[in-house]
Amino acid sequence: MLMFFHIVCRSAAALVLLMATAATAQSARPVPVRVAPDTYMVQGVAALGSSANRNFISNAAFVVTRDSVVVIDALGSPVLAKELLEEIARITPKPVSHVVVTHYHADHVYGLQVFKDAGATILAHHDGKLYLNSDTAELRMKASREDLAPWVDEHTRLVPADRWIDAPLRLTVGGLEMELRPAGPAHTAEDLVVWFPSLKVLMAGDVVFRNRVPFVGQADSGHWIEALDTLLSYDAAVIVPGHGPVSRSARADLQMTRDYLAYLRKAMGEAARNMDPFEEAYARTDWSRFAKMPLFDAANRINAYNTYLLMERSPP
Ligand SMILES: [Zn+2]
Repeated sequence: MLMFFHIVCRSAAALVLLMATAATAQSARPVPVRVAPDTYMVQGVAALGSSANRNFISNAAFVVTRDSVVVIDALGSPVLAKELLEEIARITPKPVSHVVVTHYHADHVYGLQVFKDAGATILAHHDGKLYLNSDTAELRMKASREDLAPWVDEHTRLVPADRWIDAPLRLTVGGLEMELRPAGPAHTAEDLVVWFPSLKVLMAGDVVFRNRVPFVGQADSGHWIEALDTLLSYDAAVIVPGHGPVSRSARADLQMTRDYLAYLRKAMGEAARNMDPFEEAYARTDWSRFAKMPLFDAANRINAYNTYLLMERSPP
């Protein structure tokens, strides 16, 4: 009897723990944290997108100017964008006048329609159109409606920019100067970073990952390294990355992403050149420097494989 009671208790405790974990995941809300004067970010969880986290896996940021609010990225589902708008309204009654899209990946743009409906002007790099018109975008949306249900559904839509940019653009919004700079093709063809010179804040999108292994995908890591070198030339005090915590050691963090990409290229480049099979080369490579980083297990192997294919196709 005592034994039975013990087992019941233990499973009850496990159930409570399970429910608590589910509740935490469900309730991961975008909570703004101030990172510089009038500048806030919300930080997504370090995980792959799921129904449980409502695709809250990327960051967004906003700056309150004299007249309005400028938002960088729109989060990974409309419900998150709605919550972000609510959070902004708690800080300021000013409207969101602009949303800058750092790139058209689902976790950064599925919330766009909420800002669009609220009257914001959306700005993005014009290569974002390539994604919007691609089969990938359509297939991804289809898959997301299942994988991210009910947060992404048949009402979720991809929203094009109101203003497409193909060269650096200086804008002044409510007295605040900002510079939109194409940084791609790096993580994507349409990478755009936003630089606020008076704040020394750089919104870097996914060109900079922090405290986690980047998702390389089909990116050209050679160009990506060049983009990081450009960003290293900025005098940034604060970097808001597309994923992970804010960086106040801008240089070191840029360097980390750069080192990881360079390491992938070196290891996989050698293997491709020697025509070593990928499996063998992967197993032989010493990953210890990066292995403790979050999402290493989820991302490193596929990053290495994509890099291997890239180096086969276009050796450095
Ligand atoms: Zn991302």
